[in-house]
Amino acid sequence: MIPSLMPNYNRIDVEFSHGEGAWLTAADGRRFLDFGAGIATSSLGHGHPGLTRAIADQAAKVIHVSNLYRVPQAERLAARLVAASFADSVFFCNSGAEANEALVKAFRKTMAREGKPERYRVICAQGAFHGRTLAMISATGNSKYLEGFGPPVDGFDHVPFNNLNALRDAITPETAGILVEPIQGEGGIRPATMEYLRGLRAAADEFGLLLGFDEVQCGMGRTGKLFAHEWAGVVPDAVSTAKGIAGGFPLGALLAGERVAASLVPGSHGTTYGGGPLACAAGNAVLDTVLAPGFLDAVERTGRRLRAGLETLAARHPDVFSGVRGQGLMQGLVCTVPNGEVQNACFAEGLLIVAAGDNVVRLVPPLIVRDAEVDEALARLDAAARRCKPATARDAAQ
Ligand SMILES: *Cc1c(COP(=O)(O)O)cnc(C)c1O
Repeated sequence: MIPSLMPNYNRIDVEFSHGEGAWLTAADGRRFLDFGAGIATSSLGHGHPGLTRAIADQAAKVIHVSNLYRVPQAERLAARLVAASFADSVFFCNSGAEANEALVKAFRKTMAREGKPERYRVICAQGAFHGRTLAMISATGNSKYLEGFGPPVDGFDHVPFNNLNALRDAITPETAGILVEPIQGEGGIRPATMEYLRGLRAAADEFGLLLGFDEVQCGMGRTGKLFAHEWAGVVPDAVSTAKGIAGGFPLGALLAGERVAASLVPGSHGTTYGGGPLACAAGNAVLDTVLAPGFLDAVERTGRRLRAGLETLAARHPDVFSGVRGQGLMQGLVCTVPNGEVQNACFAEGLLIVAAGDNVVRLVPPLIVRDAEVDEALARLDAAARRCKPATARDAAQ
C-alpha cells in the first residue's frame, strides 16, 4: 500500500530530534556530524541562537501579510544584499527553482522590453541543475529529471560546461542569455574556471546577451565570498540564490542589475509567500552572521583546512577516491567505488555527507563549522574509506 507521505524520495531510516552547531542528534540518541547541512542549506548550523530568536520573535509579531503591503523585513534584506553585491535590486521567492524561474522570465521580459521578443532562449551547461519545476527540468536538461514528464519546455539550449567555443557556437539570433552555475553542485562539485566565467561575460557583451549565474548552492558565503562569481571578478546581470540564504527557512532570491530588474514591472511577476516577514527575518539573521567582519575570511580558512585534509585522505585511499575539487566549504570527493557506498560508510561512522553526480560525495558543512569539527570529519571519513575497501585490501592495510 502506498505510504501516506508520497514515495518520491529514497530516505535514510533516521529521525533527527534536535541539533546544535554542526551536530545532529537522532531520536534514538545517535549523534552525527553534519557535513551535508540539509544539502548546503543549514548555513548557520542547528539551534543557532540568533537565527532561532529572530524567527521566534518575528513569528510572535506577524508571520504573513502578503505582497499587497510593504514588508520592512524584505526591504531591509534587499538593501543589505544590494549593498554587499553587484545587484541593484532583489526579488524574493521561496526556493531555488523559483529564483531561476524569475531569472529566466526576467531575461525574456528584458529582451521583449528592448524590442527583441524573438530573443527568448537561454543557454545552459551540461551537468547543470536548476530545479524541479517544468521549466527548470528543461533548463537542467538531464534526461534523469525529464523522463516521463512530456515534452521539455522550449527555450533552453545545452552546451558542454567550461567550453567557451561551444558556448559561442550555440548563440543564435534567438538567444536572450546564459545561465550557468559558477560551481556545479548536484552535477558533482564541478567548478567553472575563472577564464570561463570571464569569457561568458565577454561573449554576453559581444552578442548583447544577459549573463545569469545560478548561485542557489554556491552563493551566500559558501565559497568564502558572498557569491562564488566574485572570485572571477565578473559582474553578472542576474544571480539566483536560495539554499543557505535563510539558514534552512524557505527563501529564494533573484538579484539583478537595473537593466533586468526594471523589466519586472508591477503585475509582471509575483508570489504569495515570497519575501514575507518571517522568511526575511530569518534572512536578515543569517546576514548578521555572514556579513560580520571576518566571517567570510574564516569560511575560506576553514575551507582550506578541509581541502588540505581531503587531499591527504584521497592520496591515502587511492582505491576509494580519485580526487578533490571545489572551493571553500563546498568540496567534492570523487569516488572510485560507488558514491552511495561511501555515503553509507560515513553514515555508519556518524558523519552526514551528500552524494552528487559524477560519482562524487559532497562536503558542505554549516559555514559556522569549527576547525576541530573539520578534523573530526576527516577522521570519520578515513574510517569510512577503510570500510569501503574490499576485504583483501583491508587486510593488507593492517
Ligand atoms: C538546489 C538547487 C536548485 C533548486 O533549488 P530548490 O530550492 O530545490 O528549488 C537550483 N539550482 C541549484 C544550483 C541548486 O543547487
